[in-house]
Amino acid sequence: ESFGVQKALERLGVQSENLGTSTGNRWINSGKEFISSFSPADGALIGKVQVTDEESYEKVIAQAQDAFKVWRNMPAPQRGEIVRQIGNALRDVKADLGKLVSYEMGKSYQEGLGEVQEMIDICDFAVGLSRQLYGLTMHSERPGHRMYEQWHPLGVVGVISAFNFPVAVWSWNAMIAWVCGDVCIWKPSEKAPLSGVACQHIVAKIFKENGLPEGVSSLIVGDYKVGELMTTDKRVPLISATGSTRMGKIVGQAVAARLGRSLLELGGNNAIIISENADLEIAIRGALFGAVGTAGQRCTSTRRLIIHESVYETVKERLASAYGKLVIGNPLDEKNHVGPLIDKTAVEMYLQAIEKVKAEGGKVVVEGGVLSGEGYESGCYVRPCIIEAENHFEMVQEETFAPILYIMKYNTLEEAIAMHNGVPQGLSSAIMTLNMREAEAFLSAAGSDCGIANVNIGTSGAEIGGAFGGEKETGGGRESGSDSWKAYMRRQTNTINYSTALPLAQGIKFDI
Ligand code: NAD
Repeated sequence: ESFGVQKALERLGVQSENLGTSTGNRWINSGKEFISSFSPADGALIGKVQVTDEESYEKVIAQAQDAFKVWRNMPAPQRGEIVRQIGNALRDVKADLGKLVSYEMGKSYQEGLGEVQEMIDICDFAVGLSRQLYGLTMHSERPGHRMYEQWHPLGVVGVISAFNFPVAVWSWNAMIAWVCGDVCIWKPSEKAPLSGVACQHIVAKIFKENGLPEGVSSLIVGDYKVGELMTTDKRVPLISATGSTRMGKIVGQAVAARLGRSLLELGGNNAIIISENADLEIAIRGALFGAVGTAGQRCTSTRRLIIHESVYETVKERLASAYGKLVIGNPLDEKNHVGPLIDKTAVEMYLQAIEKVKAEGGKVVVEGGVLSGEGYESGCYVRPCIIEAENHFEMVQEETFAPILYIMKYNTLEEAIAMHNGVPQGLSSAIMTLNMREAEAFLSAAGSDCGIANVNIGTSGAEIGGAFGGEKETGGGRESGSDSWKAYMRRQTNTINYSTALPLAQGIKFDI
């Protein structure tokens, strides 16, 4: 037993064989098919989860619709109180859940803990929000009339999540949706289903203790076929889907075909501009964590560095030297900086991307490759690499979900911003500069075209207080803080006549 994983699994209620379909405390047996979850850390089978079939999906939807009728009538601050209790339950299991996330997904234990902290933070945010679901009041043009708008819950929200943030992304959606009065059905990634099972156990207990019905929080498990049950289902008014742009294009169209709403959080191709006016100490550290943290498997990972020609050689050398000091190994061992990729398919994609970019003319600065031998038995550990490339290269235009960093030179800021924006994706971005004019130009309407734009911090590591999401092929959705909650509600405009007459709008006369 290594790093106390087995004990953590036991405490989280995760077994070697788990049902995957749940309306809360009720777990539905849904057939013979199972997904096996292997750890990329050591290649071991962690456990199996049963796949949801159509019949059990129908049971889940029916229960969710019933639960919505109760949940929507509970005052929002009382729903917030339930989310407050969930936040406390997450505080209690932070170490165990962080460990499971690290072991099942492969991110470092510190990042696993950070992911659970993000869940706790969004709970706190949602509790406050539950008293702040504000609408506006307007002045009516008619005498004796009052006008205002209010926000009502939508109904059943379908959450489809990616493997790389196996628990936090669900909580960004679910905690906000719950205080808004919606009920949620979550389909976690088929690459990290046990994290989903563990979370369902945690929240189901709280709903039960508070005497709430089954169906406010539901879980379904499987691959895209199970996801499609929700995306094509009219009973699910909002689909919030996180994953690749490829997935988003399919999901977006499926939901649009039934005129449903979708909230899409898709791939990024994030860059940092390092100006000649940068604090290079900060720039190098920001770029390093952005590029190799989570083994390059964050949607906000730094994939491109656009470096001023006057500091290009210095940045290149200092980065290469920092890469030389990286320790790669088991993510649960806190001595290691870089863990594994999610699976061998991801390793294959990483190797292919390196070959393709070399064929396009890319020059290797820090060599990549797959690690083998003791500690690397899972076959998922790779070396983070740096390649000199040009922005227009086909591979540079794509998001490869691995630690490959492309570096390139610029001369004028205008040129740097054009390169920066010259990719199909638009999630996160940063400029490293101490020059106020450069920083403001980057943040202006003519600057970064991304949903997130930073100055003197890297591209990864967003806080929950801001709205999270991106433009262009990143999908346009916003989650988490600010007014993202509005996506989970329907807006209603109300006009009340308290006069003794019935004036029509625009002064229209209609007398008989
Ligand atoms: P993926 O697209 O392979 O899968 C994501 C989820 O979508 C999974 O649950 C999968 O089962 C489901 N899915 C796939 N096709 C579907 C379909 N046709 N219908 C319904 N559901 C479907 O992505 P992944 O490999 O798990 O995650 C990596 C990707 O996620 C990267 O591109 C990354 O940038 C992106 N991501 C984006 C954000 C963001 O907030 N913008 C956050 C995390 C990850």
